[in-house]
Amino acid sequence: MNSTSFRITWIEAQRSFVADAAETVLEAARRAGVTLPAECEFGGCGTCRVKLVEGRVHYDEPPLALAPEEEALGYALMCQAHAQADLAISTGRLLDAPAPAQRRRAKVVRSERLCGGVTRLVLAFEDGAPFVFRPGQYLDVLLGEAGSRSFSMASRPGEAEVELQIREIEGGYFTQTQLAALRAGDPLDVEAPLGAFGYHEEDYRPIVMVATGTGVAPLASMLATMLETGDAPPVELYWGARTQEDLYLHEHFVQLAARHDDFRYVPVLSRADDAWAGARGYVQDAVLAGHDDLSEYALYLCGSPAMIADARRAFLARGASVRYLYADSFTFQHAQPAAAGV
Ligand SMILES: Cc1cc2nc3c(=O)[nH]c(=O)nc-3n(C[C@H](O)[C@H](O)[C@H](O)COP(=O)(O)OP(=O)(O)OC[C@H]3O[C@@H](n4cnc5c(N)ncnc54)[C@H](O)[C@@H]3O)c2cc1C
Repeated sequence: MNSTSFRITWIEAQRSFVADAAETVLEAARRAGVTLPAECEFGGCGTCRVKLVEGRVHYDEPPLALAPEEEALGYALMCQAHAQADLAISTGRLLDAPAPAQRRRAKVVRSERLCGGVTRLVLAFEDGAPFVFRPGQYLDVLLGEAGSRSFSMASRPGEAEVELQIREIEGGYFTQTQLAALRAGDPLDVEAPLGAFGYHEEDYRPIVMVATGTGVAPLASMLATMLETGDAPPVELYWGARTQEDLYLHEHFVQLAARHDDFRYVPVLSRADDAWAGARGYVQDAVLAGHDDLSEYALYLCGSPAMIADARRAFLARGASVRYLYADSFTFQHAQPAAAGV
């Protein structure tokens, strides 16, 4: 092997491949036909995080989704990392994919406002087949030359209809111009199921879930599934929004907490009016205010990349274990099809 190429060994998959120092480890894996978990591919989501059991890497820029504490513990992001030595990498415990992703034609069942700026979009497959996915996963809406847009499934798997909760983005091609025009019966091409985020039942420890805005969607799906099994560990959901009106599932979670002793719901508002008696400020700070020590918890974070980066750092400093910290970042750079633009 020449001086700028290194051997990468993926322990769990028992696969090895060669990476040039000039390319990222993920690019090298792809070239060799090895499928490492990855999503955003710009260091924003953390899906491609691995433990470096041996070797070292460098980054052109420090990736957003890797806290310095994680790096110090030997974790690395394969979509940004360049090998500087032979590597042995461990992906730890990956959830099994429930089904391979497929591109299929769906149709709109209904579209309705949940609150100012958030739409519930309900889809069904044209042939009536159920949506098979693991709670926590997402689908891509396929928009031809405009690329694809990702949205998490908010409903339970295995049903003939799937619910998405979509926040309107100022100037957004899909969420501002296309979504409002969708009517019942309109076709929509999707690719599903996608993503590595989901409930790690095997952890068997109390759970803190943290969401901002529509980041609550995959957590709502996970909660609906976990709580109905009856043997879920205690779960706390901290949901951050700006105003009370933005808490579009507030009543749903209040009722869920009334029905399940082991489920606690903490809404947190950053721009509450005087009438609000609940928690105020940033959602991650409310978690810290409620927990002096997070070392016994599994943490599930979902929503804006900024919240996730901040929460990750703060929770690790409060004793959370990298091993039990899972995040789904609503990053927003889209893979465009080759030779196409919006
Ligand atoms: C795995 C995953 C799951 C997701 N799940 C959901 C979900 O369940 N519900 C949901 O509402 N969103 C979700 N998102 C975010 C969603 O994909 C984007 O908001 C959406 O793609 C925006 O599309 P658009 O065409 O309207 O905006 P674009 O036309 O693509 O973008 C317009 C402008 O807005 C910026 N922008 C785009 N999205 C965002 C954003 N989210 N926040 C801030 N600025 C943005 C762009 O950089 C650009 O400048 C998810 C993202 C990922 C990666």
